[in-house]
Amino acid sequence: MPFASIVGHEQPVRALRRAVSSGRLPPGYLFVGPPHIGKTTLALALAQAANCEQPVGQGETLDACGQCDTCRKITAGLHPDIRLVQPRLRIELPKEKKKSERKGSARQRIAQVSDEEEEIADEEPEAISADMEDALIDLELITDLVGEAARTAFGAQHRIYIIARAEAMNAAGANRLLKTLEEPPENATFVLATSRPSALLPTIISRCQTLALHALPPQEMEAALAEASPDLSPTERSAVISMSAGAWGRARRLLDRRQLLDLRAEILTLLASLPRRELWEAMRLAEALAEMTERWWLTEEPGDLGKRMLKAARDRVLRTELGQILGLLSSWFRDLIVVQADGRLINADYREQLAASAASYPPDAALAACRALDDLRADLRQNLNLRLALETLFLRLLLLRRQ
Ligand SMILES: [Zn+2]
Repeated sequence: MPFASIVGHEQPVRALRRAVSSGRLPPGYLFVGPPHIGKTTLALALAQAANCEQPVGQGETLDACGQCDTCRKITAGLHPDIRLVQPRLRIELPKEKKKSERKGSARQRIAQVSDEEEEIADEEPEAISADMEDALIDLELITDLVGEAARTAFGAQHRIYIIARAEAMNAAGANRLLKTLEEPPENATFVLATSRPSALLPTIISRCQTLALHALPPQEMEAALAEASPDLSPTERSAVISMSAGAWGRARRLLDRRQLLDLRAEILTLLASLPRRELWEAMRLAEALAEMTERWWLTEEPGDLGKRMLKAARDRVLRTELGQILGLLSSWFRDLIVVQADGRLINADYREQLAASAASYPPDAALAACRALDDLRADLRQNLNLRLALETLFLRLLLLRRQ
C-alpha cells in the first residue's frame, strides 16, 4: 500500500513523504483520527516508503514501489522489523466435535492418519486473542515491542512499530513506552494510532509528532466509491456514504460485506417505527436490536470462528459491535434535528421517513435522544448488563416522544 494508493489525507501524506525523504523520522508519531479513517494503513505506507528497495520520486513525491520483496513482506505483515500491535483479549473457544468420532467407512479408514493428527490438535485448549471493546494493550505486549526496538534490525533501514488503538495501553505499558520514547533507539519509529488522544499520557503526546487524519468530504467519498466499485447502485452508494461517515476503511469493509447495508435498512426502519410504538414494546425493541447486533457480528466475522466467538463471549462481542450500531442510531436522531432545518442529512435516503418522525421528535427531544445514546455508549466500556441497558435505552427513546 504505497502512499499513492491512499484515499484522501493529502496533508499528512505530504508531511510523511518529506520526513522519509529527508531521512529524519521522529522517534514517535501520533496519528489521530476517527476509527477506520486509515491510520494503520498510513503507518504501513510509511513503513514501506522508509524501507522500499526501489523507491520512486523524492521529497513530496517520494513513494514506495509496492512491488519489491520488502514492500511485499510489509503488505503481508511478514516483515520482522515492521510490527503492528493492537489491544487483545483472550477468549476461550468452546471445543469443536472431534471429526474422527464419525463411524469410519473404508475411505475414512484410509484417511485415519490425518484424522489422528486432527485429534491431537483438538486436545489443545483453543483460545483466540481478539480486539474487543474492553481489550487492553498490556505491559507484556509493549515490553516485547520496545525490546525488539532495542535489538539490531533484521535488515530494515528504518523499523516501524505501530500501536493501534494506543489509548488502550494500560498505565504500566504506557510508562514503559514513555521511557523508550525518552531515549529512543536508532532507526526506529513508534506510530501510535488513536481516536481518543485525551486518553493518552500527555508526556507521551509531547514526545510524538502529531498528524491529524480527517474524514473524507462526501464528494470525495463518492468519487472514491465510483472508482473502487462502479457496480454500486445509487441507493447502495448513498447508504455506504452515510454509514462510513468519511472513513474510507469503513467504506471498504461495507463494499466487501454488502449485507450490512440491508441490516442498516432494518435498523433505520425500526427507528422510523418508534412514533407508533407502545411503551410496553420497549423490551421487544431492545430484543430486536440485540438480535440485529448479533447478525451484524456474524456478517463482519463470517464463518465458524465468528459463531464460536459469539457463543463463548456473547456479551463482549455484542458490546463491541453495538459501538458501531449506536453510531447509526445517533445519526438518525441527529438527522431528525437537521431535517426540520432543511439541512444536509447523513441518512439522505431516509428523508421521507425522517420527515414523518420529526413531529414526534422536535429538536429538543431528538437532542435528548442523542444524549441517551451517548450515555449508553460511555456505559458500554463498563461491564454493564447489556439487555437491561438496551431496554432502558428504548424506554427513554419512547418517553421522549411528543404527542
Ligand atoms: Zn518497494
